[in-house]
Amino acid sequence: MLFSELADTFDRLESTGSRLEMTSILAAFLRTVPKDALEPVINLCRGKLHPDFYPQVLGMSDKLVLKAIAFTSGTPDDKVEELWVKTGDPGEVAETLISKKKQMTLFSEDLTLERVFSSLVSIENADGKDSTEKKMKILSNLLHDSSPVESRYLCRIVTGRMRVGAGDMTVLDALSECFATKEDRPAIERAYNITCDMGLVATTLADGGVEAVSRIGVRVNSPVKVMLAERLPSIGEVVEKLGGRCAMEYKYDGIRVQAHIGSDGVRLYSRRLEDLTDNFQDIGESLKAKYHGKEAIIEGECVAIDSETGFMLPFQNVTHRRKKHGLDDAIRDIPVRIFMFDMLYRDGEDLTGRPYPERRRTLEESFAIGGNVQMTTMRVVESADEGEDFFNGAIAARCEGIMAKSLSDESVYRAGSRGFLWIKYKKDYQQALTDSFDLAVVGAFYGMGKRAGRYGALLMAAFDSESGSFKTVCKLGTGFDDQFLDSMPDLLDDRKSEKKPKSVDAEMEPDVWFEPDVVLEVVAAEITLSPIHTAARDEIKEGAGLGLRFPRFTGRVRDDKTAEDCTTVAEITEIYNMQAHDSDGLSE
Ligand code: AMP
Repeated sequence: MLFSELADTFDRLESTGSRLEMTSILAAFLRTVPKDALEPVINLCRGKLHPDFYPQVLGMSDKLVLKAIAFTSGTPDDKVEELWVKTGDPGEVAETLISKKKQMTLFSEDLTLERVFSSLVSIENADGKDSTEKKMKILSNLLHDSSPVESRYLCRIVTGRMRVGAGDMTVLDALSECFATKEDRPAIERAYNITCDMGLVATTLADGGVEAVSRIGVRVNSPVKVMLAERLPSIGEVVEKLGGRCAMEYKYDGIRVQAHIGSDGVRLYSRRLEDLTDNFQDIGESLKAKYHGKEAIIEGECVAIDSETGFMLPFQNVTHRRKKHGLDDAIRDIPVRIFMFDMLYRDGEDLTGRPYPERRRTLEESFAIGGNVQMTTMRVVESADEGEDFFNGAIAARCEGIMAKSLSDESVYRAGSRGFLWIKYKKDYQQALTDSFDLAVVGAFYGMGKRAGRYGALLMAAFDSESGSFKTVCKLGTGFDDQFLDSMPDLLDDRKSEKKPKSVDAEMEPDVWFEPDVVLEVVAAEITLSPIHTAARDEIKEGAGLGLRFPRFTGRVRDDKTAEDCTTVAEITEIYNMQAHDSDGLSE
């Protein structure tokens, strides 16, 4: 298969804003892809060579890619630099300069997908002293034989900038349109949610149809998308929503970890699918030692413990375990405990379809609980009063609040979905509207006065899962200390985008746009109708969206969340509706 077919498809996808059109372009293209090329094609559509949880990433620096472009196109470095400053996109630089070169080159070979893929794998694996040189050479060879459009995507792929606008939901739509029917879409999505491997889902579908896809179960070392909780504003409503009887667990303030215990060791993944095995080595070893069986997938919250008092410490303390440098010191100095709350797999049995009480029982029976491996504190409650009592205990134990969980027969583990089978209730909810929102940074405004020369405020957005786009909810300029203001360029500039990114829906025009990636925790006084923000536009009132009043950064960068994991527009609308309910005088 020729790489040009894929590059042309990327180009067509990029030139449309309609998700429906993207789906049909992609589905029509997938029909033409030979089965053995399906996996690399699907991964490349997502800008990757492997599934998201694969530890290695293909990250060439912009500088190196510009060097390869200069070398191949015979352009002086300063000219390349000039174009780079103007466009900010190595893909566009390559396209412009390669197109000039092409008019002069006589000998070049058509690029096959196979050659491109294996060259990219070689770039990824290049190591040793001369690895930069090797990477540069491999890319130059590809650029030598590529057309302008091909070079655009090659340079975007190697720098991690491949965003043609087709998100996971569009790829899943295209797969069901191409290989199955609309009715099969949930089964296909489920398979993706429990394997996080779109290439695997696509090849299984092409080979054995939806029956084969439905047989895919959770497997050790293939992380499962985490189940998420809804929220409600009072304990009474939580208990009522769950049928008057539910389980309540302490909501610990740490890092969520999914542990895959295999016969050859333990791997730990964050909810963003990063590999945290080295960061929580001690926890991995204890889990393995305390597990009665051979293979398992469990989930728990890793919490830092004060070594002198034995009290749980807030989230900030456990984040020291995430760093790469000085990790050994952090493991020694900051003891951590895992509080386990779910079990997804046990020795050949996929437990995700079993109700919560059965999963919890299996989890408890499967481990020798003790030391740094604990169960979350849980109680079955049958009234709001009992719930309040349990909540007060959670706060006294220095937890964030509670997680209420359904005890019904339907209380399965819903991978990758947020629903009312789990409901969170946090201490924040008790004070006016100070619940926190996790919002994606999509733009920045240059500062003035004391902040001159730095970013002074940020444009923040919530994720709209319906359209797969990010919609703005506030301009955030409060809560930044000097250290954070100084660190902003390092945190954000890699995601700079020349134009408004396709995934962002905004009316406000910041000075700089960013691809949504960095997530910040923000508190606000109130959600109000807004003439400028685009979240829930026209849903509550014609011409108005929803915005946050008096937003303030809490100081917490949610690097455990991807942009798609941030607070959704639906959640904000729901909270707005709860507020309206309060001010109607229906509650105190
Ligand atoms: P939030 O990040 O505020 O949406 O809250 C959900 C997170 O709470 C989960 O992703 C877990 O990391 C964490 N958590 C803490 N305790 C529990 C628990 N007992 N059950 C489930 N999740 C918990």
